[in-house]
Amino acid sequence: MIKRVITGFTVANLFIAAAVLAEEPIAKQKAVPQATPGELDLKLREALVKGASMEEIAKLKEPAAKTPQEAIIALKSGNSRFFGGMARRPEMSANERRAQILQQTPFAVVLGCSDSRVPIEIVYDQGLGDIFAVRVAGSVVEPATAGSVEYAVKHLKSKVLVVMGHEGCGAVKAAMLTPEELKGEPEHVQYLLNQITPAVAQIAKIRDPKAKMREAVMANVRRQVALAKENPVVKAAIAKNELAVVGAYYEISSGQVDFLETDEELRL
Ligand SMILES: [Zn+2]
Repeated sequence: MIKRVITGFTVANLFIAAAVLAEEPIAKQKAVPQATPGELDLKLREALVKGASMEEIAKLKEPAAKTPQEAIIALKSGNSRFFGGMARRPEMSANERRAQILQQTPFAVVLGCSDSRVPIEIVYDQGLGDIFAVRVAGSVVEPATAGSVEYAVKHLKSKVLVVMGHEGCGAVKAAMLTPEELKGEPEHVQYLLNQITPAVAQIAKIRDPKAKMREAVMANVRRQVALAKENPVVKAAIAKNELAVVGAYYEISSGQVDFLETDEELRL
C-alpha cells in the first residue's frame, strides 16, 4: 500500500491537482459548509455529556452540501484531493458514528459501475454517510437501480445524482459484441448488456480502439442520464431545484473524474 502511494504520487500529479484546484475559486470551495471531524466530534461529546437523546444526537450530523451546486463542488473537490494524492480518507470517531444511527443524509447519489477499480466513496474522497452508492455493471438505469435512486432523492433528499462511467468498462465493451458472440452469456448478463446496447449501437465507425471505448462509455453515460431524467421522482426534484443530474467519466489511469454537466455535454 505504502509503495503504491509513493510510486503513484508524482510531480505530474501535483501539477494536475494544482491546476484543478486553481480552476475552482477558493471562495467557492469555502462555501461548502462542511464541519471538520474535530468540530462535530466536540459538539457530539458535549451533547452526550448533557444527556441528549439519540434523536437529538442524530440531528447534529448535517449533510456536507445543502444545494445541488454545493454537492457538485464537494464531489469535485474530493476527487481532486484523491487524484492529487491528498485524500483525507475521512474516518469518524465513535461519537460521530453514533450520530448516524437513526438517519442518513447523503448529499449525493452516485450510480456507478460495479468494477472493482472504481470504488465511489474512495474516488470522491467521501466518508460514512456522504454518498448513497448504487453500483451495477455498466451503470445502467433499470427498475432496481431506478428504485434505489428514487429512494435517495425522495426520502434522503440527496442533492445531486451522478451517473458515472469509467475508462475500460468491460460491460460497455461487451455490449458492442455481436449477438452471436454473446450467445453463451448467462441470462442476466445479457439483460444488463441489453440496457447498454442502444447507447453504443451508433458508434461502430470509430477506428481507434481507445477513442472508440471512451466514446462508447460517454454515450452510455449520456443515455443513462437521459433515462434517469425521465424518472418522475427525479423530474419532480429537478423542477423544484432540489436536484441536479450530471454525468461523469472516471479515468482509471489518472484517478480523475470528468463531469458532463451542460445540455451540450449531455446531448444524445
Ligand atoms: Zn464498468
